[in-house]
Parts: sequence; C-alpha cells; structure tokens
Amino acid sequence: DSSSGSSGFFSKRTFPGRVPAGIGRKSLRIVVTGGAGFVGSHLVDKLISRGDEVIVIDNFFTGRKENLVHLFGNPRFELIRHDVVEPILLEVDQIYHLACPASPVHYKYNPTNVMGTLNMLGLAKRVGARFLLTSTSEVYGDPLEHPQKETYWGNVNPIGERSCYDEGKRTAETLTMDYHRGADVEVRIARIFNTYGPRMCLDDGRVVSNFVAQVIRKQPMTVYGDGKQTRSFQYVSDLVDGLVALMEGEHVGPFNLGNPGEFTMLELAEVVKETIDSSATIEFKPNTADDPHKRKPDISKAKELLNREPRISLREGLPLMVNDFRNRILNGDEGKGL
Ligand code: NAD
Ligand code: UDP
Ligand code: UDP
Repeated sequence: DSSSGSSGFFSKRTFPGRVPAGIGRKSLRIVVTGGAGFVGSHLVDKLISRGDEVIVIDNFFTGRKENLVHLFGNPRFELIRHDVVEPILLEVDQIYHLACPASPVHYKYNPTNVMGTLNMLGLAKRVGARFLLTSTSEVYGDPLEHPQKETYWGNVNPIGERSCYDEGKRTAETLTMDYHRGADVEVRIARIFNTYGPRMCLDDGRVVSNFVAQVIRKQPMTVYGDGKQTRSFQYVSDLVDGLVALMEGEHVGPFNLGNPGEFTMLELAEVVKETIDSSATIEFKPNTADDPHKRKPDISKAKELLNREPRISLREGLPLMVNDFRNRILNGDEGKGL
C-alpha cells in the first residue's frame, strides 16, 4: 500500500498541541526506537535538553534502563517496553529509528531491521512524521572502494554470517526510500561508522568495548586475525550532533556519519594501552568470517550539505569512556537489561 493516509485503524490523525520548547521554536514530540541503548540514550539526552518531548520504545534486548534512569520523573520523557517488530500507535512529529540488535553476537536473533523498520515507516506515513533511519557502514560490506563514498553500492556476501545485519540494513534503506518515493514520507538516512563512548554495551563483542574492558580487568586485549584490518572510530557526541543535523536539515541522504581517522586494530590496542594502563598486553585470536579488511568514511557530503564533521579524535575520546566502564565493571554490572 503506497497511499498516504489510508482510512481505518491506522488512518492519518492529528494530535493535540504541546508545551513550548523555548523562545522561537515549537517543542516537538519525538520517538527514539532503541533509545535505551548506547547511541539512543545519548541522543535522548540531547533532545530532552533542548526542550523536546521524547518517547523511547525499547525491548531492552541490549539496552538498559540505567542508561535513561536520570530522566525518569521528567514529564517530557516516556519509556515504553515494546518490540518494534509489532505495530504500535503513537502521535509524533519525528521518528529516530535506532532499534536493532547491533553487534555480531546479537544481531542474528531477530527480524528487527525489516519488520521494525516497516512498522516505523507505517507510523511515519500515518501521522506525517519525519523518519530517520540509522543505517550502517556495513552496507558497504568488505569494500572494494576506499575510502567509502555514499555512491558506492557495496560488496556484501548475501548468505554469510554477517548478512542478516548488512542485508537487513540494506533492506531497511530500500524500504525507507520506497516509503519516501511511494508514500511521500519525509525520510533521512544516516550510514554510521564505528562509534564508541560511555554506555556502550560491555558484553557485545565490539572492539573498543572489548579492549577497554579487558585492560580494566587486567586481561590481555584480544586482537582478531593479524590485527592489520582497519576501522575509523567516532566519538558518540559527534554522531549525535550529526544525527540531529541530518534530521533537521533538508537532505534525505544517505550520509556517512563517521570520523575519517583510520586505525589498525594493533594501533587501537596501543592507544588503549597508552590511555588506561601501560602494562596492558595483547593476545591474537582467529578472526570471524567475512570481516571487512578496511573501513574509512569519505565524509565530504556531510561536511558540505550538513556542515558537520567530527571534533573529537580517538585519543581525546577514549579517556571519556574509561570512568563509565570502570564503574560498571566494579559494580559487577555487565550490561544486561532489567
Ligand atoms: P545498542 O545495542 O546499544 O542499541 C540498540 C537498542 O535497540 C537497544 O537499546 C536494544 O534494546 C534496542 N532494540 C533492539 N531490538 C529491538 C526491538 N526489536 N524492539 C525495540 N528495541 C529494540 O546499539 P547502538 O550502538 O546504540 O546502535 C544504535 C543504532 O545505530 C543501531 O541501529 C545500529 O545498527 C546503528 N549503528 C551503530 C554503530 C555503532 O558503532 N554503535 C555503527 C553503525 C550503525
Ligand atoms: N503501523 C504501525 N503504526 C502505525 C501505522 C502503521 O505500527 O501507526 C504498521 C502497520 O501495522 C504495518 C506497517 O506499519 O504493519 C506498514 O504500514 P502501512 O500502512 O504502510 O502498510 P499496510 O498496513 O497498508 O500494509
Ligand atoms: N576485533 C578484535 N578484537 C575484538 C573484537 C573485534 O580484533 O575483541 C576486530 C574485528 O575482527 C574487526 C574489528 O575489530 O576487524 C572491528 O570489530 P567490531 O565488531 O567492533 O566492528 P565491525 O566489525 O562491525 O566494524
């Protein structure tokens, strides 16, 4: 169905006005799916602090109430335990769609990328909300073009172990553009490159969280393969600024949101060692299948059209997450949902 505003249960509706956000701008009602997660909770903080109403939808698959507990009791904040694979009725102005099992150990478990994205696009269509998809650099697969521009179509294995994530996000991008073209939904697509910072899941196997937690626990850092593969690491506040600029701007995208500073895993281990404990060691482990050899965003499009570029380098950003990790590890909180 590509019509906008069909009749019946899910027909287009209007909803009552709301509190002012401050001088010169009407307050918005915004849904953040996956808002109890790492990136989502930082985004929610930013939206609440600028005066908007925020509704978080999260099933706590990898997210945690602790990431949002400081907002409980704020009348502009609501938290709904809900799986976006099921339909939901809400009346909102904007939808940031982040919900997704986002790391290799989790993402094979559910069809969130397809069914969840479809439901959020259906919601956006019904209420006339603007919809932002958080896609990923993984849509480029093991890239044959370096650095990756948004025009690159990618090199993805459709039947590999990672493909439920890569292809799930590719399908989510397709659905997003179909609703844009076919149903006039206002959409935005961000392709996010590896991001790190406080509140990252401790146990989801990503490299920055693994290395930082391992060094705090006085364990060796596990380098997969020969450690010469590269990634580009972005601090979370730079990402959140980029997401908001994209949502508020006039351009659909897709936009690469990332930090072009490129590091091998061995170099990353060295920076973690310098930052936290100069006696830290590494150990080599076999790499996972289909691991991309290199990844680095070309961010000229975001620079030109969104006027955005990252401000925080890896050496500046890593120390900003160490206290949060230390506290959670000391408290025995391994990042499980409540
Ligand atoms: P995260 O795991 O911390 O957050 C994801 C959130 O989605 C969690 O709170 C989880 O409970 C929730 N969720 C998962 N499935 C759900 C479902 N079916 N219904 C409701 N909620 C559900 O991960 P993150 O790093 O914050 O990632 C946020 C988004 O950014 C994801 O879409 C991810 O694909 C994208 N992204 C992140 C990175 C990165 O480096 N962090 C890189 C590329 C893309
Ligand atoms: N949907 C939803 N909330 C809404 C509107 C739609 O969850 O407010 C879901 C709906 O259940 C459907 C999906 O979004 O599964 C796509 O909706 P759309 O109206 O585009 O498709 P249709 O229902 O016409 O197939
Ligand atoms: N990696 C590693 N040690 C770890 C976890 C990951 O060397 O403990 C490597 C992994 O093989 C990959 C890179 O770090 O080459 C980034 O992995 P991550 O899962 O963080 O992100 P993605 O592969 O999605 O970019």
